[in-house]
Amino acid sequence: MITENIQLIERELAGKARLIAVTKTKPVSMLREAYDAGSRLFGENKVQEMAEKQTQLPADVQWHMIGHLQSNKVKYMAGFVTLIHSVDSLKLLQEINRQAAKHDRTIDCLLQIHIATEETKFGLSADEAQELLNAPELDQLPNIRIVGLMGLASNTDNQDQVRQEFRGLKELFDRLATIQRPMLDFRELSMGMSGDYRIAVEEGSTLVRVGSAIFGAR
Ligand SMILES: *Cc1c(COP(=O)(O)O)cnc(C)c1O
Repeated sequence: MITENIQLIERELAGKARLIAVTKTKPVSMLREAYDAGSRLFGENKVQEMAEKQTQLPADVQWHMIGHLQSNKVKYMAGFVTLIHSVDSLKLLQEINRQAAKHDRTIDCLLQIHIATEETKFGLSADEAQELLNAPELDQLPNIRIVGLMGLASNTDNQDQVRQEFRGLKELFDRLATIQRPMLDFRELSMGMSGDYRIAVEEGSTLVRVGSAIFGAR
């Protein structure tokens, strides 16, 4: 089923957005099956789980950290992570920079934006994101690059609301992409999960994060 699900979703995406297979809580055997079906972008939400799985899969897998991140965990993935989707503070960027420098790497990051109506979801407001992208302190962080934004829509059956939230995030993306600084390279908009990736792609997503629609319920 995993192979069929991936092929189906890839056909739907038709190259408009790239598919991140969200493999959190799933066993390595399922990741291997996804890999054999052609998946190379894997998303996890816990650093330790991602680090353990990383050693058991081929080196050409790109690992995406999509979960809320504590500064003290960055060191466990700084050597291999491809993109951190969940950056929500200058302090976290400073720690990512510090750990990336130890590995002589530049780590790509997205700012997570709060677009849902639920209060429990993490992320920056539009104003906070703009302030962070203009912060003078970024000049001291040569080992990070901010390449775009990430957001989670509300968990609701109201498709119009979900669409409006994604549309708002795309508008913010376009606005913030006009800020010109060496460490900014806005080219990725991470939005869309199993229940809403079709809408997200219509609204301009470049990266969809899909778990249960590939691997089944968690
Ligand atoms: C778990 C998770 C997903 C995937 O959710 P599904 O509904 O299983 O597709 C996407 N994004 C984030 C941030 C997640 O934590």
